[in-house]
Formats: sequence, structure tokens, C-alpha cells
Amino acid sequence: MDIDKIIEERRSWLGWKNIAPLREALKKLPRIDDVEVLLDDTVTIRSDSVTSAQREQIETAARMMIPWRKGPFDLFGIFIDSEWRSFKKYNLLRPYMDLEGKRVADVGCNNGYYMFRMLEFRPHSIMGVDPSPLFRTQFDLINLYVKSRLLRYEMLGIEHMRGFADMFDTVFCLGVLYHRSDPIAALKSLKQCLKRGGELFLDTFMIDGEEPVCLVPESTYSKISNVHFVPTISALENWCKKAGFEGFEVLEIVKTEKEEQRKTEWIAGESLDAFLDPHNSALTVEGYPAPKRVYIKTYRK
Ligand code: SAH
Repeated sequence: MDIDKIIEERRSWLGWKNIAPLREALKKLPRIDDVEVLLDDTVTIRSDSVTSAQREQIETAARMMIPWRKGPFDLFGIFIDSEWRSFKKYNLLRPYMDLEGKRVADVGCNNGYYMFRMLEFRPHSIMGVDPSPLFRTQFDLINLYVKSRLLRYEMLGIEHMRGFADMFDTVFCLGVLYHRSDPIAALKSLKQCLKRGGELFLDTFMIDGEEPVCLVPESTYSKISNVHFVPTISALENWCKKAGFEGFEVLEIVKTEKEEQRKTEWIAGESLDAFLDPHNSALTVEGYPAPKRVYIKTYRK
């Protein structure tokens, strides 16, 4: 796989006709020098020198980039109240993270919310990967002011990670695996980008049960499209083993809560407000077991 060629080709995606106006707006934004960055549940960027005209220009650009799925961010007092309260997932994983000096990748990074938060650990570098030019543009807006040189963003997918052979100490792949029609191939690709002994953090929807089996939703699962496989924990462990991982650790098991994902003014359209059966909260609207996530850590052999 010629990863440099793929990266180069995908740069042209920033010229798509729905993205080009956002890139133009981004280019015209004011550079602000004396910023203060707070890496808290809300990733906050402050400055005493921003004028109200500048703030208005930044807000207009941010609103052009709707929908904001992950966050929240506070950009000079503009509160980007994203659909997801992403600090819930980040705070859950944070006690298990030890990223100082590490080469880190976040696969399916969306707008990079976790990448910004992980800067608190002083890693060597963090590469975020997500094929979306919109989320890449949101990342560029935030990093225009955070100005971290440790962060890199490429519009690639999980399937390209094998092109970065033996590069990373720690890889995160959160909320992506159930969207893959070939989860074992996806895990193999992640394994190949890790150094030997390197660690993978992953979360996926799961079903209860001892058997190594999966739920295969007929169409949507909990109103989410493109969910291919929902494994039991033992099925997930077997996938990881088959892909060449060892030392499977279950970190947390969490039921999805409505307050974690909801409609805000920063997304157009609907959020997942009614994903459970109104008469039986143990089931999704489709009649499947209600969404539950397992967070695991496993290591490249
Ligand atoms: N990791 C974040 C976001 C999960 S949403 C979290 O856990 O909160 C799923 C993300 O996967 C979206 O940002 C979507 O753009 C991205 N995605 C879509 N196709 C992908 C692929 N082939 N490889 C990696 N990520 C992909």
C-alpha cells in the first residue's frame, strides 16, 4: 500500500463543492496569538485580545461546519454544544491511559476532540485518521487556535492503517468497529500499525452471553445505520486473537445513556432521542437488546 499516494489523493477531497466554502472561510479567519488553552471536559480556547467582530467571524465559520458531532468546545466564548458529550467516553478511558512520550493514533477520530484532550499527557505525537473532509475541517478550525504541532490529521480509514507499519505505541479505535463489514480485517490493519507489544484501546456495542456469537441487525440498530456485527465479549476476544492480539482486558461495560447523545443547535436534523422501545427499555426500537458498550485493551503480539 502506497500510503503517501493515498494521502496525497485524498487532499483533493477538501476541494469538494460542499467543503470548499468552509475551507475559504477557514483561510480568512484571524490568527490570534495570545491564546490560553484549557484541556477540560469542554476544550476551551481563550484570549483577551479577540474583538467582537473577530468572534462573529469565527462563529459564522463554525456554524458553516455543522453538524458538530463530538465535543464540546468553547472557542473564545462561542460554546459549540456538540451532539455528543464526548467527555463521558474520554473520562472513562482516561484512568487507563499512559501516553507520555508515546506515538499515538486515534482511528475514526472525528473532529479530534479526544486528540486535543490527550495532549494533557504530553505524548510524542498523535495522528488522527478519519475519512471525513468536514470533520477534518472542524479539526483545522480548532487547531488553528490550539496550534499544537504534535497533532496530525489524515483523511484515511481504518483499512489504511496497515500502511503505517510498526509505527505506534498506542492506538485508539472507538465507536468504529461495528461499522466495519469485516471486523477481523479491520483489527489486522490496526495490529499492523502497532509496534510489537503496543496497545489497542477499542470500544464497540456488545450483547450479553457466554457464547462467541454476534447479533447481525437486519437494517438499523438503535436507529443507527451501517451496524454490521454486535458481538458478545467472547466473540470480540476471538476476533482480537484471530487478528494477532494477546492479553485481552475488559476495562468497562457501559449502557448508552440518552444524555450522552442528544439534539443541540449544533447539529441539523435529529439525534438519537428515541432509540429504545417506549414500553421496554431493555430493547431498542427494532427489538434488539438495548445498546451497551464494552471498552477493552489488548496488545500486539
Ligand atoms: N471515535 C469517536 C467517533 C466515532 S463516530 C468516538 O468514539 O466518539 C465514527 C467515526 O468513524 C466518524 O467520525 C466517521 O467519519 C469515521 N469513519 C467512517 N468511516 C471510517 C473508516 N473507514 N475508518 C475509520 N473511521 C471511519
